[in-house]
Amino acid sequence: MSSFREPFAIGIDIGATKIASVLLSDNGEVIKSSQVLTLAEEGPQVVLDKVADQILALAQQCPGAIAGVGIGSPGKVDSRRGVVYNAVNLGWTEVNLTEEITRRLHQGLPVWIQKDANLSALGEYYFGACQGVQDFVYLGIGSGLGAGIISSGRLITGSDWCAADVGHLSVDPEGPRCVCGGRGCAETVASGPGLVRVTQHMLTHSHRATSLVNEANLTAEDILAAAHNGDTLALQALAEVGRVLGIIMSACTVILNPSRFVVGGGLGLAGFDYILPGAREELMKRTIPESRSLLEILPSRVESPAIGAACLVWYAHAGEPAKS
Ligand SMILES: [Zn+2]
Repeated sequence: MSSFREPFAIGIDIGATKIASVLLSDNGEVIKSSQVLTLAEEGPQVVLDKVADQILALAQQCPGAIAGVGIGSPGKVDSRRGVVYNAVNLGWTEVNLTEEITRRLHQGLPVWIQKDANLSALGEYYFGACQGVQDFVYLGIGSGLGAGIISSGRLITGSDWCAADVGHLSVDPEGPRCVCGGRGCAETVASGPGLVRVTQHMLTHSHRATSLVNEANLTAEDILAAAHNGDTLALQALAEVGRVLGIIMSACTVILNPSRFVVGGGLGLAGFDYILPGAREELMKRTIPESRSLLEILPSRVESPAIGAACLVWYAHAGEPAKS
């Protein structure tokens, strides 16, 4: 017997490689899910058509009333006006996401949009590692370093939708060039491409014995596999990711006094055990005990970013998860 409850919410995550979508029940059960390739090079109109098609297909299969649609996007997301700016990975300079999708649906379904990492935080808040936690920071380590902040039960978006942009806090102003144009941003180390760059640098400059070979096609997966086998250079590179993550956690800790960090993203989850000790050590060096007396660091538990997107519908309606 199924235990799902009405109403339902539809969540869509527009990623650089795929568009993930779910139909979620009121109590967090995934009723349906699907994925299609984004193929952003085909242009925004094609991507927007695909997003609308996904929503309509899920709406058609929905066994009850739908409360609305939540959509996550990379870039700077003005959720009040419904506009996405400078989503570099999608090649979008300015897209009226809410309007474009609403126009394609012809159904009067309310649509909300939000920055992707903020929705990962909401997903953890409603149905993941932070249920009942009012002050926490989600950190996603993947193709970049993203974050979402919940403080006193509210999502923090900032004066111009740029809050929690921790990936572009420089930890070394003389460091390597970042995609943003700055130097030594946290994500030049704490990200999949960052880990590869750090490892390649170590392979060139250190004489440690290692199974890794300095090739142009080295991947974060290769480095994780080597770390699983006890490769000391791979472990050292992952510790460097942890060290930089710890600097970011320290900054968040002194400003927000969170009781939890949730680490997600492809590398954040797969490399959690290797990254965590370095992060914790850095946090201990840089913060006072009072600011972290309640602090725990956990891996994320929400499997699809589309689930967090669906939670935006509940957040828009209620502001906070209902007390069960
Ligand atoms: Zn940057």
